[in-house]
Amino acid sequence: MYDFSFHRPADLASAEGYLKAAEAKLLAGGQTLIPTMKQRLAAPKHLVDLSNVAGLTGIERKGRNLVIGAMTRHAEVAGSGVVNKAIPALGLLAEGIGDPAVRNRGTIGGSLANNDPSADYPAACLALDATIITNKREIGADEFFTGLFETALGADEIVTRVSFPVPIKAAYLKFPNPASRYALVGVFVAKDTDGVRVAVTGAGESGVFRVPAMERALSKKFSAKAVEGIKIDPSTLISDIHGSAAYRAHLVGVLARRAVETIAKTK
Ligand SMILES: Cc1cc2nc3c(=O)[nH]c(=O)nc-3n(C[C@H](O)[C@H](O)[C@H](O)COP(=O)(O)OP(=O)(O)OC[C@H]3O[C@@H](n4cnc5c(N)ncnc54)[C@H](O)[C@@H]3O)c2cc1C
Repeated sequence: MYDFSFHRPADLASAEGYLKAAEAKLLAGGQTLIPTMKQRLAAPKHLVDLSNVAGLTGIERKGRNLVIGAMTRHAEVAGSGVVNKAIPALGLLAEGIGDPAVRNRGTIGGSLANNDPSADYPAACLALDATIITNKREIGADEFFTGLFETALGADEIVTRVSFPVPIKAAYLKFPNPASRYALVGVFVAKDTDGVRVAVTGAGESGVFRVPAMERALSKKFSAKAVEGIKIDPSTLISDIHGSAAYRAHLVGVLARRAVETIAKTK
């Protein structure tokens, strides 16, 4: 690691102040940033720790929405009665992230800001049409994820909360990397009054993506059969040592069908 100054502000205004310094970076759970710094792939001059900033934690139901503070740990989301009542699929998703050490440190805000192409939360945000709230504005999920490890966030923007509209039903199926548990392929299906949204993580060369063909078919007839014949174009998918693009395209179909079956089975 290279040298850096460490700051632990107690409020958002002070955090914004420190973030204005050249080469400053926010620190949340450190599960991605610290290993990256250790490998000298990142060398921020200033580290702005968010763990003491007031107002960045908490899980609450606000009317039709489930609102989660950016500094909420994966384990808290997984174990939350409010989450598991409103969107059980989101609780299950958080329970499947990494291992206990990662779940007890990693945060939803850090995961979304990092936007790893194999991360789980981006699929939930896109399928549930979530809104990512920052210290400056509100960003819809369709605008937020802009590419591999890229988001619409500005250099001086801090994710403060994420607001998820509560769907009628939803399910998330993941084929995890056996070591890291990151998604080789993960498919999130959300069924709501205005239709169905399907989002895929782990597979896209440009990161998380939606499958409009499946959304149209499922909005017409919500059954596993409806998505059977829909093929994913492997030319836009990742090929690596963990699996080929053709294999990932196949997995998207299998997991989408299983997610629909899971939803059809839930009361
Ligand atoms: C062994 C291992 C296994 C893992 N397995 C999985 C998995 O199965 N599924 C999965 O989804 N993830 C997995 N992860 C990643 C994990 O979820 C991390 O928690 C997540 O990627 C980063 O969150 P963090 O809170 O640790 O953020 P940090 O590492 O602290 O920060 C990540 C990045 O986001 C920025 N940032 C942090 N908070 C904010 C904010 N509020 N506003 C703006 N920018 C911010 C930071 O500056 C940094 O650039 C794994 C990680 C490890 C080490």
